[in-house]
Amino acid sequence: MYKDKLTALSVVSENGRIKDICSYNESFDCRTEDFGDLVIMPGLCDSHVHINEPGREDWEGFETATMAAAAGGITFIADMPLNSLPVTTNEASFDKKTESAKNKLYCDTGFYGGLVPDNINELNKLSEKGVLGIKAFMIDSGLEEFPRVNENHIREAIKVLKSNSEKTGRGRHNQIPLLVHAEIAGESKLSGNYSKYSFKSFLEARPAEWESSAVGMLINLCRESDYHIHIVHVSAASSVEMIRKAKKEGLPLTVETCPHYLYFSSEEIPDNDTRFKCTPPIRDSANREILWDAVKDGTIDFVVSDHSPCNPVLKFIEEGNFAEAWGGISGLQFSLPVFWTQARKRGVTVPELSELMSSGTSGFLNSGKRIGKIEKGYDADFTVFDPESKFTVEKKNIFHRHKETPYTGKELYGIVNHTFLRGNKVFEKGKIVSDPSGEIILREKTS
Ligand SMILES: [Zn+2]
Repeated sequence: MYKDKLTALSVVSENGRIKDICSYNESFDCRTEDFGDLVIMPGLCDSHVHINEPGREDWEGFETATMAAAAGGITFIADMPLNSLPVTTNEASFDKKTESAKNKLYCDTGFYGGLVPDNINELNKLSEKGVLGIKAFMIDSGLEEFPRVNENHIREAIKVLKSNSEKTGRGRHNQIPLLVHAEIAGESKLSGNYSKYSFKSFLEARPAEWESSAVGMLINLCRESDYHIHIVHVSAASSVEMIRKAKKEGLPLTVETCPHYLYFSSEEIPDNDTRFKCTPPIRDSANREILWDAVKDGTIDFVVSDHSPCNPVLKFIEEGNFAEAWGGISGLQFSLPVFWTQARKRGVTVPELSELMSSGTSGFLNSGKRIGKIEKGYDADFTVFDPESKFTVEKKNIFHRHKETPYTGKELYGIVNHTFLRGNKVFEKGKIVSDPSGEIILREKTS
């Protein structure tokens, strides 16, 4: 693939960078590998992953998460400021986070800082440390140590971030994004036969209006401040039109959705199967199709995993209790094939897939690294991918710490055969084949 189309070419890499792009028939006097009809794509970049280390290594960890990433063709991930312990809300916890990641990474990894009600004074220090963005919740995050913020907290945080970005000479398109979980708890319309074991009840308890009211508030804040707000995991069709209009208006707003919202629909989710619990929830198939339209017309900027696993006990796997289970879907390794399986049916092309999962996300993170494209001077990060072959997800092939995922047993299109990180092969045909060579990526300072 080169310049938005698929074509037969040779890519030459040296010292971890793309040195040249030549015709397919060119001969070389260096080591070569011919991938035949497979697609060589830029390595995927997933800007929404919960690794949970340090402190909650029994949920996930740097080693297992980045191995799963490499197995899924992902060469860069950005780690959320929760659910590690401590949460990444100040300088000291940021240092603990990066310290605990050392020598464990099979893909490059960057980090977000968190915004909570009492840490607005920490935001400048976190920015100086090199966070890729600041993340906040407008609803209970599920963790006491990461409380939600209100409209005023967000407004105050933006003032601090904006004045910092002006001081450091960052332009409008180079601001550190403020990522927000957009749901505000309001009334939920429960039908008479509520059950904590029923997915339908869980869905009723977490209506789409909670999301669209938060999205509306964030769009207003974005307009008022002219600051880059990013809405994470948009799931509600009722938010889409507002976002579309805000973008036409030229607001510095970006949005993402996740493979699970584009693959599953609520009608097919069985009661008691808490592997499907995430927040906001997976909604019905009509909702899903509106999300697809938004992905295809660019209203949704990109697609990321929101990998947020926990241990099987907290997921209430045995009991099947939706009310108590941790809200998060485990799926990092399967983001590409899950998305692709549905995308190819809807006429999405491989170059578009690459834009949605690689150049779109790496452009958003704007870390200063040259990644997400196959161009001279860019990092030699590649996913060698077979878009036309299928496989079935089996527990034995999963690299996540815990093997519970709603994709088990699913037949998916798109096999990742090889993953290269800066020219070094890290994954080949089901196996990790390298020592951890991923780097800790801090956002480049512009001042
Ligand atoms: Zn998340």
